[in-house]
Amino acid sequence: MTSWTGHKVTKARATWTQRLPLPCYQCKRPVYPGTAWVVEHMTPRSQGGTLGPENQWVSHRHCSDRSGGRMAAAITNTRRRPPDTQLPTMTPSAERRIRPR
Ligand SMILES: [Zn+2]
Repeated sequence: MTSWTGHKVTKARATWTQRLPLPCYQCKRPVYPGTAWVVEHMTPRSQGGTLGPENQWVSHRHCSDRSGGRMAAAITNTRRRPPDTQLPTMTPSAERRIRPR
């Protein structure tokens, strides 16, 4: 149980909504405003992550559900497939794999 509920979520969603579409944190495919998506924490609070936007990213709801967690999914994802979309500030390796739209 975390404090990741309430007004901070609402505020974060509003901010992220304006920035969509963005690559999904899990599958790297675009997250569009009309689809089900969630705000994820890239670094859990237990590992020093913050609740601020610098530690947030979006992912499809089904991707988040399937991953079963935030950071675990990121680790799994890195192993499974390289990012094929530009992901600013997330993984350094992604910068070498930028695929222009
Ligand atoms: Zn996804």
